Amino acid sequence: MTSFGSSSGFAASLTSVLPEFLPCSPSSEFIEDVSSLNQTDRELPDLGFCSEWNPEFTHNGHHCCGGYIRTRRRHRKLKCAPERRKFRYCDEMTEEQKEYAEEVQSGKLGDILQLITQEMGGRGEQAYCTVNNGFLAHGRRLIPSALNHVAIRSPERCVDFGTDGMIGMIEYVGREVGKRFSGEEYKGVKLVVGDIAAPRGGCLGHASHTTGQDADIGFLWAKPGRDSPIELHRDFDVKTEWWLIKQFFSNPYACIKVMFLDRRLINKLAKSVSQDEDWQKYRRFIRHMPGHRNHVHVRIGDYPGPPGCVADAKPELEELEDASDTDYPDLSAE
Ligand SMILES: [Zn+2]
Repeated sequence: MTSFGSSSGFAASLTSVLPEFLPCSPSSEFIEDVSSLNQTDRELPDLGFCSEWNPEFTHNGHHCCGGYIRTRRRHRKLKCAPERRKFRYCDEMTEEQKEYAEEVQSGKLGDILQLITQEMGGRGEQAYCTVNNGFLAHGRRLIPSALNHVAIRSPERCVDFGTDGMIGMIEYVGREVGKRFSGEEYKGVKLVVGDIAAPRGGCLGHASHTTGQDADIGFLWAKPGRDSPIELHRDFDVKTEWWLIKQFFSNPYACIKVMFLDRRLINKLAKSVSQDEDWQKYRRFIRHMPGHRNHVHVRIGDYPGPPGCVADAKPELEELEDASDTDYPDLSAE
C-alpha cells in the first residue's frame, strides 16, 4: 500500500531556496487570517509542515495561511503567487502521489472505496486555512475507473486532487451513477468532474478550490446509446440532475456545506421537484452563484454528516466562488 509519508524532496528543494534567516517581516505588513482556520479548535500547523505542503508558503511571507496585506488605505486579500497562474500543476505532485495513481490504475490497491474508508482520517487533517486561501496536505488523486464511471475533464492539468472525504464522495457517487444507469445502452454515461484542487492545493485561478474541498461537477448527461460529453455543457436535465444532487447530499463520505448553481437552474429544480421531501431538506444548501450554468460547484466539510456540516450551518455565508460562466481560469494550454 502506498504510504503518504512526508515529501522530503520538495521540502529539501524549498529549504535550499529559502534564505538561512527568515526576514522578521515580509516586505508588506502581513496579517495572517487565523480567524478563518476551518475549525476554531484546530491548532495552527507548524511552519515546517506548512512549508512542506503549502505551495504558496513563500509567497505568503512564510505564513501557513494566505492572509491580507495592509496597504495605506485598506486591507487587500493576498493575491496568488504569479508563478501559480499556469495551466498544469503536475510538477507539484509528490512521489507518493505519483505512485498512488500508478498503483490504483494497475489494480494493486484493490477496491479504492474500501481503501479510502479504511484510511480516512488516518493522516490527520488534510484541508488547512479556508477554501479561498488554504492548502491541501496528503491530497488524494481521483482516478477514473470502470467502476466509478468518472471522466475527468482535463486530466493533463493535475487538478483532480482532494481530501479523502472528497475523493471518497466522488468515487461513491460515480458508482451510484453506474448502478442507476446500468443497462448496456447506458454504458457511455459518465460523471464528469472539472477542477478540484492542485496536488498540494493552493491558488488555482478560481476564487476557491485551494483545499481539496471544492469540486466542479458537470451536469449528468444520460441518454441511451450515447456517450456523455466530457465537458461542462448547459444541457440541464432537471430530473437526472436532481437525482445526482441527492446522491451528493446523502453520500456517507463527506458532509456538503453548500452547492452553487445559477438561480435560473435552481428555479427549474424548484418547479419540478418541490413535492419531493428531500427538496425541503436540501434547498437551503443550494445557493445561487451567477454564471454557474454549466456545472454545479460542490463544497464539502471536514467530516461525513448531514448537509451544512454543523447544527447552526449558515450556507448563505459561505465564501464565494467565481461568478464566471466557465468557472475556469482564462489560460490556454502551453
Ligand atoms: Zn468551482
